[in-house]
Amino acid sequence: MQDSEEFALRRAVIETARELNRRGINVNKSGNISARFREGFLITPTGIPYESLIPEDIVFIDLKSGGFTGKRLPSSEWEMHAEVYRARADAGAVAHCHSAYATALACQNMPIPAFHYMVAAAGGDSIDVVPYETFGTHALALRAAEALQKKNACLLEHHGSLSLGKTLGKAIALLAEVENLARQYCIVRSLGEPRLIPADEMARVVQKFKTYGRQPGDKE
Ligand SMILES: [Zn+2]
Repeated sequence: MQDSEEFALRRAVIETARELNRRGINVNKSGNISARFREGFLITPTGIPYESLIPEDIVFIDLKSGGFTGKRLPSSEWEMHAEVYRARADAGAVAHCHSAYATALACQNMPIPAFHYMVAAAGGDSIDVVPYETFGTHALALRAAEALQKKNACLLEHHGSLSLGKTLGKAIALLAEVENLARQYCIVRSLGEPRLIPADEMARVVQKFKTYGRQPGDKE
């Protein structure tokens, strides 16, 4: 497996998981990271610290059968990742964590409204809270996938934050941006009633974001 595309992707999943901890977005191993691969996806295993992960620890999940191959058990939230990939053909990676500010808002069932234009990075004029379901259940997976059918990120009530992207880098960049926005929103709220961007302006910003950061010649 050493030189294969699969090996490289397994290493990238591990690097991305470690990056979440380095950036302080995730603590210990409560988050999980996956990348689409062939007919399924590669995901971090349950219960192993990111620092000691090796490529062979990453688990492959077949999207058709839901079966997995590998010597480890997958993250307890593997069904959430699976349902997101089923719901979004354009998702190349999924990232989940319990970052402090996003989780605080999720615990209070407080969506992030259009207080800042960057909210549109998640694909709409708000970042919504998915109603509570027990962690690791199919019910949570279905609710999360339903939310990510319309947008690229959401909060999970009494739980944490979930983002997708075309690549691993884009998925964790959005996860980091949601945490940044959540922190800013908490500060804004401490200053008084948040002032919001009008709906027509946010619609314009959402459109603009569809081409944001793209260079001439880039594929969509
Ligand atoms: Zn979680």
